[in-house]
Amino acid sequence: MNKPAKAPSILELYPEETRDAAALLKKAVPLMMRHDIPPNPVHYALWYTYSKGLEPELNRRLDKTVADFDSFPPETAAKLFRDYIINGELEEARAGQQQVIELVDDIEGNVSRNIVGSSNYQTSLEHGLAALQEPFIEDLPNVLNELQQSTQLMQDQQDKFLYRLKAAQQEIKSLRNQLERAHIAATLDSLTQVFNRNAFSRLLEQTLSNDHEGVVLVMLDIDHFKQFNDQYGHPLGDRVLQHVGQLLREFLPARAIAARYGGEEFCIILRDCVDNTAAYAYAEQLRVKIQSLRIKVRRTDEVLDSITASFGFALAEPGDTLETLLTRADDALYQAKRDGRNQVNPNLSETALSA
Ligand code: GH3
Ligand code: MG
Ligand code: MG
Repeated sequence: MNKPAKAPSILELYPEETRDAAALLKKAVPLMMRHDIPPNPVHYALWYTYSKGLEPELNRRLDKTVADFDSFPPETAAKLFRDYIINGELEEARAGQQQVIELVDDIEGNVSRNIVGSSNYQTSLEHGLAALQEPFIEDLPNVLNELQQSTQLMQDQQDKFLYRLKAAQQEIKSLRNQLERAHIAATLDSLTQVFNRNAFSRLLEQTLSNDHEGVVLVMLDIDHFKQFNDQYGHPLGDRVLQHVGQLLREFLPARAIAARYGGEEFCIILRDCVDNTAAYAYAEQLRVKIQSLRIKVRRTDEVLDSITASFGFALAEPGDTLETLLTRADDALYQAKRDGRNQVNPNLSETALSA
């Protein structure tokens, strides 16, 4: 069975400038009319995406639905909408998608009103001009007056339309900011400000599906952290985690990704890592930085200098999955624990350490 393609995020979904969006709608609306599809936000979103043509599977299923049924069944529309339009994992994004759809709907209404307005104007202009061609004009002031009035009406409509477009652009901008914030909240770990486990898993899967070449997974786990919490309390333990998060962010190599895997465990995905030695050198540098952390106990002014972490890493190999790579890095980390903690397991069992 074909799995529906994963829908892109909201930011990728409706990136068009207002003018392009209106052009897409102009394509979508006649298609809907041709198939007698009632205008509602869900249908607009589907046929709008259809007109963009970036989801071939959706297009295929829409074509099939209109071919198989005389009408467009609401349950099919709802399913396609769920599968292809709001397949994102964020509730906030869903709400945002809906708002964008309503906005697009509103702009479309304005476009239609404007089209009707300009064709009325065209007709009245033609009448007026035809009257002016007559050799004898019975009621010149009236003809001119009518022309002037319809021009004014058209002008007012244009002004309103432009005003609405500007307002819509502002709304889209603030919606994008709102979604960006929601996206950050859903992917970052709030305590340490590095990626959370969900985002990490997704990013590692993505990385491995592109190319395993130069990808290394480093895992670190703070040593004797339970004991630390027991001795100094959970809030100070939290501060340690925040400091480690900050170190990871500050010393992150280009294109690398840092994440909190859980509790007091962190992962770093390195890319463009030339060999085992480079991975080892990076992890060793981080180990020294953690060991050099100085954390002041506010209540007593005592300065703690005993925070350490153990490290393991694994180089991605062809055919590696999230699970196989994580297992190897985790095994390496636990070897570092067994060997006495506060060290990087050089992982000699992997492809020989090049040096
Ligand atoms: P090891 O050196 O073998 O890793 O020992 P450990 O004590 O660090 O490992 P263990 O798995 O026994 O304990 C992990 C501790 O991490 C227990 C838990 O209280 C603490 N921890 C997990 N998440 C948090 C957190 O968000 N904040 C704080 N302060 N502590 C946490
Ligand atoms: Mg642990
Ligand atoms: Mg630990």
